[in-house]
Amino acid sequence: MNVYDMVEVGGKKKAQATRAEDCIMCMACVSGCPVTAITVE
Ligand code: SF4
Repeated sequence: MNVYDMVEVGGKKKAQATRAEDCIMCMACVSGCPVTAITVE
């Protein structure tokens, strides 16, 4: 799923969730994030 857009925040690229309605709650991003920065609700 392509539910994020990359946006520039303070000169750094950040992921912004812009198509949350397309998320199928598979949790692949949650389990794959090495710094546990992702929460899916
Ligand atoms: S849980 Fe994460 S990887 Fe899975 S569809 Fe949603 S945003 Fe994509």
